[in-house]
Amino acid sequence: MSAFSLRGRTALITGSSRGIGYALAQGLLEAGARVVVHGRSTATAQRAAAQLSDKTGGVTWATAFEVTDTAAVEQGIHEIAAHWGTPDILVNNAGIQRRSPFLDFPDADWDDLIATNLTSAFLVGKHVARGMAKRGSGKIINIASVQSRLARPGIAAYGATKGGIAMLTQGMCADLAGFGIQANALAPGYFATELTAALVADEQFTQWVEGRTPAGRWGRVEDLVGALVFLSSSASDFVNGQVLYVDGGMTAVV
Ligand code: NDP
Repeated sequence: MSAFSLRGRTALITGSSRGIGYALAQGLLEAGARVVVHGRSTATAQRAAAQLSDKTGGVTWATAFEVTDTAAVEQGIHEIAAHWGTPDILVNNAGIQRRSPFLDFPDADWDDLIATNLTSAFLVGKHVARGMAKRGSGKIINIASVQSRLARPGIAAYGATKGGIAMLTQGMCADLAGFGIQANALAPGYFATELTAALVADEQFTQWVEGRTPAGRWGRVEDLVGALVFLSSSASDFVNGQVLYVDGGMTAVV
C-alpha cells in the first residue's frame, strides 16, 4: 500500500461544513480515510457530510459542537470515540476572522478570536490526544496561516492566534512525541472562502495578493490537499512540530 494511503484511518476535521475544511475532508476521503464532518449546526454538518459521501463514495459521519466550550468539546469527542473510536487524524481547522485597526480593536472580538482559533485547538487537541496516547499513535494537523509569520494592518489579533497555533504545534510535538503522536501545522496563504469574501470582493486587495504571491494568484482549496494527505499519512512519520506553508511562495519572499 502507498505510504500516502489513508485506507482504514479515521479523521476528524473541525469546521468541515464549508470552506477549507470541506475541501480537506474531500481530499482525505479520496485518499481512503473515513471522515467525521463537523460544524456548529447539526443540519449543516449533516448536509455537508451527505454531499461529500455522494461526491467521493467515501464514508462520513456528521457531528456538531461549539469548539470554544470545554463541556461541548468533551461530549463531542466522547460521541465520536463511541461511534468510530478515537480518530487517527485530527485536523484543527475551525476558525474565524475579525478585522479592525489595533487602537479600536473591540475587546469582544479579541476574546472571540482567541477562543475560536486558539483555545479550540488546545481543547479538541487535548481530548483527542488522550485517546491517541492510549492507542500509541495519531496525527494532529493544526491549521495555521501566513499570518503566523507575516503581519498586516487590522489583523493583529488574528495573527496572534495563528502565531499561537505555530507554537502550540511545537509544544504538542514536545509533549506527545513519546506517545507516538505527531503534531504539525499547515499554513495556507490567501484562499477564497467565506472567511475572505470581503477581501476577494476588494479589487485593490486582490491585486495586492496576486502581486505579493510569487505564484501570481489566490490559493484554490484543492491546493491544500496534497500537503494534508502527506501530514496525515505514514509518509510523514518522522516529520514533527513543523509548519508547512502552502502559500504560492508568499512567505518565502519580501
Ligand atoms: P470559513 O469561514 O469558510 O469556515 C469556517 C468553518 O469553521 C465552518 O465550518 C464553521 O462552522 C467552523 N466554525 C467557526 N467557528 C466555529 C465554532 N465556534 N465552533 C465550531 N465550528 C466553528 O473559513 P475558512 O475555510 O476560510 O478557514 C478555515 C481555517 O483556515 C481557519 O482556521 C482559518 O483561519 C484558516 N485560514 C484561512 C485562510 C483563507 O484564506 N481562507 C488563510 C489561512 C488560514 P459553521 O459552518 O457551523 O459556521
